Amino acid sequence: MARILIIEDEPDLQTLLRFNLEKDGHQVVVAGNGGDGLHELRRSAFDLVLLDLMLPDRDGLEVCRIVRSDPTLATLPVIMVTAKGEESDVVVGLGLGADDYVTKPFRIKELLARVKVRLLRAREEAADGERRRMQFQGLVIDPVRHRVLIDDQPIQLTLTEFKLLHFLASHAGVAYDRYGLLDRIGDGDAVVTDRTIDVHVRNLRRKIEPYDRFVETVRGVGYRFSELAGDV
Ligand code: CA
Repeated sequence: MARILIIEDEPDLQTLLRFNLEKDGHQVVVAGNGGDGLHELRRSAFDLVLLDLMLPDRDGLEVCRIVRSDPTLATLPVIMVTAKGEESDVVVGLGLGADDYVTKPFRIKELLARVKVRLLRAREEAADGERRRMQFQGLVIDPVRHRVLIDDQPIQLTLTEFKLLHFLASHAGVAYDRYGLLDRIGDGDAVVTDRTIDVHVRNLRRKIEPYDRFVETVRGVGYRFSELAGDV
C-alpha cells in the first residue's frame, strides 16, 4: 500500500483514478490544481504522484520542475498524465525528471501497472540507498539518491562537489593530490588547473559545515577525508 497524490482537474478522471487506486489498496489524496498539489506535497509525505499536464492554474510541467528542485521531493516518483498530441510536453517532462507518462485516454490497467512498477523501483532504490549510505556523525551521504544530509537537513551540492565528497569519504584516511582527485571525479571542464579542485573543496567545506573539518588539507599533497570522522 502506498500514499498517492493525484493532481488532476477533471472530476471524472479524479473519480476513476481514486476508485481504482483505492481498490488496489492505496491511500489517495486528490488535488484539483497545481497549487493545491504542491501544498499537499509539502504538508505530508507521498510515495507517488500522478500529474496531469493541463491544469487550470499552472502548467503541470512547472509543477514537475518545482518538485524536482525541492531536495526533499527529488526522488518522489512522478507519472505524467497527458492528452494526445502533447508529445513535446512528454519529452520536456521526462527531461525535467518525471519518471513515466500515460496518454489520455489510457486503459486503467496500464496505468495501474505503471504505478506498480514505479512504486517497486522506488522501494528498491530506497533500500539500495540505505545499504550504501554513509554516515559520519551528522553528515550523511546517500550515493543512490545523490543526497547529502547535514543533521537531517538535505543540502544542495553541485555534481562535482558531491562526487568529490563521496570519493574522499569512500577512501577515508587516504590523501590524494589535486590531479588525482580531478581524474577521479571526472570534472569534464575544458579548462582545468590544479587550483580548480581547491575551489571545489572550498565550496564543499562551506556547504557541509560544521563537518567541514572532515575534509582535511594534507600539506604538500592535497586532501583527505578524516579517518576519525566515523568515530563520535
Ligand atoms: Ca486537465
